[in-house]
Amino acid sequence: TGKFFVGGNWKCNGTKDSISKLVADLNGGKMESDVDVVVAPPFVYIDQVKNSLTDRIEISAQNCWVGKGGAFTGEISAEQLIDMGCQWVILGHSERRHIIGEADKFIGKKAAYALSQNLKVIACIGEKLEEREAGKTFDVCFQQMKAFADSITSWEDVVIAYEPVWAIGTGKVATPEQAQEVHGAVRDWLKKNISEEVASSTRIIYGGSVNGSNCSELAKQEDIDGFLVGGASLKGPEFGTIVNSVT
Ligand code: 13P
Repeated sequence: TGKFFVGGNWKCNGTKDSISKLVADLNGGKMESDVDVVVAPPFVYIDQVKNSLTDRIEISAQNCWVGKGGAFTGEISAEQLIDMGCQWVILGHSERRHIIGEADKFIGKKAAYALSQNLKVIACIGEKLEEREAGKTFDVCFQQMKAFADSITSWEDVVIAYEPVWAIGTGKVATPEQAQEVHGAVRDWLKKNISEEVASSTRIIYGGSVNGSNCSELAKQEDIDGFLVGGASLKGPEFGTIVNSVT
C-alpha cells in the first residue's frame, strides 16, 4: 500500500510563537525515513511553516475552495495553495461536514478540482455516534466514498482518512478491531467500485484520538496505513512517536 503516512492536522490552533516552537521540535525530532509526514497548519501560518520547516515534512491545507479563485470572499483556492508551496489539502473533514455543513457532493467536487491543480488530497470519511449505534457505519462511509468516487478520476494522489466522528477530540479512540473492520470494508469497497489496483495501492489512514500510547497497536492492523492526528500533533515529541510507530 505504499509508505506509512502520518498527518498532523493542527486545526484552528496556534500562534506565530507556538508554531515556531512546534516547528523547531519537528525539525529536531528523529523521524523514521520510510514514512510520509505531512502537517496541516491554519492557512495564515502556511507561509511561516513553509519557510521554517524541514523539507522532510510536507505541508497540507485544511480545506480549499471548490474551483478556480475569483469573487469568493473568505476562500482560498487550490492554485493559491500550490503557489504557497503546499503539496496537500485535507477535504471532507468531519468538522467541515458537520459544523460548517459541507455536503458530500460539494466535497467530491473540491477533491476533483484540487487534484486537477496537482494538490494531493487527504479525503476524510467517518460516521457519527448515532449512525454507528444505528448500524449505519458502512452505509455512511460508503456514501461518502461514492461522492468522492463520482468526482475523482485518478486515485494516485489520494489518501483516505477514516475518522469516526465519535473518536475525534474525545479521547475515545476506536479499538484496533473497530478501526480495522472499517478500513477493510473501505478497501473492499474500492476493489468492487474502482479497481483491484486502486484498492491495493491507496492508503487508508485512521484518525480520532490517536496518541503516543495507542498508535502502535493501531499501526499493526493490516489495513491501517497511517494516521491523521489532531490534538497530539500539536506536541512535537508525541507526534514524532506516532510517526515512528510503524516500526
Ligand atoms: P484528534 O486526534 O484530536 O482526535 O483529532 C483527529 C482529527 O480530527 C484529525 O483530523
